[in-house]
Amino acid sequence: MAILIHRCKCGHPDIYHGGTRDRACEMACGCQRADVAPEPELMPTWDALGKPVTTITTPGTRWAGSGGQTCGCAGCEKAHTELVGAAA
Ligand SMILES: [Zn+2]
Ligand SMILES: [Zn+2]
Ligand SMILES: [Zn+2]
Repeated sequence: MAILIHRCKCGHPDIYHGGTRDRACEMACGCQRADVAPEPELMPTWDALGKPVTTITTPGTRWAGSGGQTCGCAGCEKAHTELVGAAA
C-alpha cells in the first residue's frame, strides 16, 4: 500500500522514528528524534513481487508493510480524501 508520511528533517519518513516519532531513526542516520514537515506526502510502497501498490492506506491505521501505524493527523486525512477522490 502507498502510505502518507511526514518527511523528517533527516530526509526519512516519520515512520522510521517509530509510531510516536521519539525513537532514533531506523536508518542510523544519526537523527535521534523526528522533526517532521507539517504537510504529509505520499510514499509509494511495493508488494513482495516488487509491484507498486496503489491503494492508499487510511490515515491512522496499521499498514501491512511494517506493522507500523500511519499518521492520522488532519493533514493526512485531508490528503487521503483528496487522493482517493481524485482516483475515483
Ligand atoms: Zn533518518
Ligand atoms: Zn529523522
Ligand atoms: Zn499526518
